[in-house]
Amino acid sequence: MLTRESNDHDLRNFEVVMAGGHSATDRFKEPLVSNILQEVLAANQKYTAEFGDKNKLAMPPARHFAILTCMDARLDPAKFAGLAEGDAHVIRNAGGRASDDAIRSLVLSHKLLGTQEWFVIHHSNCGMEFFTNDIIRKLLASSLETAVLTETGFKDVGKGPGSREGEYIEWLTITDREQSVRDDVERIRQHPLVPETITLHGYIYEVETGKLREVPQAGNVGKAA
Ligand SMILES: [Zn+2]
Repeated sequence: MLTRESNDHDLRNFEVVMAGGHSATDRFKEPLVSNILQEVLAANQKYTAEFGDKNKLAMPPARHFAILTCMDARLDPAKFAGLAEGDAHVIRNAGGRASDDAIRSLVLSHKLLGTQEWFVIHHSNCGMEFFTNDIIRKLLASSLETAVLTETGFKDVGKGPGSREGEYIEWLTITDREQSVRDDVERIRQHPLVPETITLHGYIYEVETGKLREVPQAGNVGKAA
């Protein structure tokens, strides 16, 4: 899939984004000095100072909807979908896939907390388009350290040993992002624990523009009965 012409452009973008403007190799030569803990705690201190009356929020989402989307750091559902604290459930995983665990959360979101409308949102330039089950399993089997993305795909540069435990995981990679949205909406629609009164929406978030683009066939499958 990495040799497909349509993916070449995405692959280069992905590498630039991953490497923060440096080449992937340079990035991993830089010393790993982290102030993350201090930064997070300082940000939290500021947040609590401005917390206001958010302690009065109810547990059930005020706007009765949920979003299933990718963990990609470029996506901020609160911003791209206009959410405030207390508004909606946001369930995130690699790819925004309708895994068993994502469905577990969605079922609870409706059954116990009253959401009626669910969005499945995948996105352009998703990391899940850049490997297959076979590739990630081989990478993990040789090393647990971070791999680098090259023109020909992910390569291990770290030391071993790795682990073959990756063979037991279905990684839910994506080869066609519109199809993956349709598949996930359909899987949720057909799930025995999901009532037909739930409305499902299938969208793709464009990392290039911030725009949400509907996957029409997913909308048809997702209509509530
Ligand atoms: Zn993604």
